[in-house]
Amino acid sequence: MYSQEEIMELKEELLILKEKLQSNIRKANSEIDLMRNQTPTDEGDFAVLTNDSTLDFTLIEKQVKELEEIEVALDKILNGNYGICEMCEEPIGIERLRVKPYAKFCIVCREINEKSLKK
Ligand SMILES: [Zn+2]
Repeated sequence: MYSQEEIMELKEELLILKEKLQSNIRKANSEIDLMRNQTPTDEGDFAVLTNDSTLDFTLIEKQVKELEEIEVALDKILNGNYGICEMCEEPIGIERLRVKPYAKFCIVCREINEKSLKK
């Protein structure tokens, strides 16, 4: 289905992404710590501070979720079921995996999923 070479290539990609996300999350967390340690001088400053940290939290949450998906994909490589759609159990396809190496669904199932979410 996928060649060993293709899997190795995608694994490399996943490991690079994983490292990037981990350092992003670390950096964001230390920035939030810094903000928390700052005492706002008046109410106006405090509002800005709150807005900023809310934004950061959303971004971190997104990155943490992405990191989890990467971990799952790496596990699948170890277990030999990487690149299989979780819904229809068909191969996701190398083209799609090259764009998103931690994809869980094939293009067809992803579209079905998105449509059902919109309802
Ligand atoms: Zn599918």
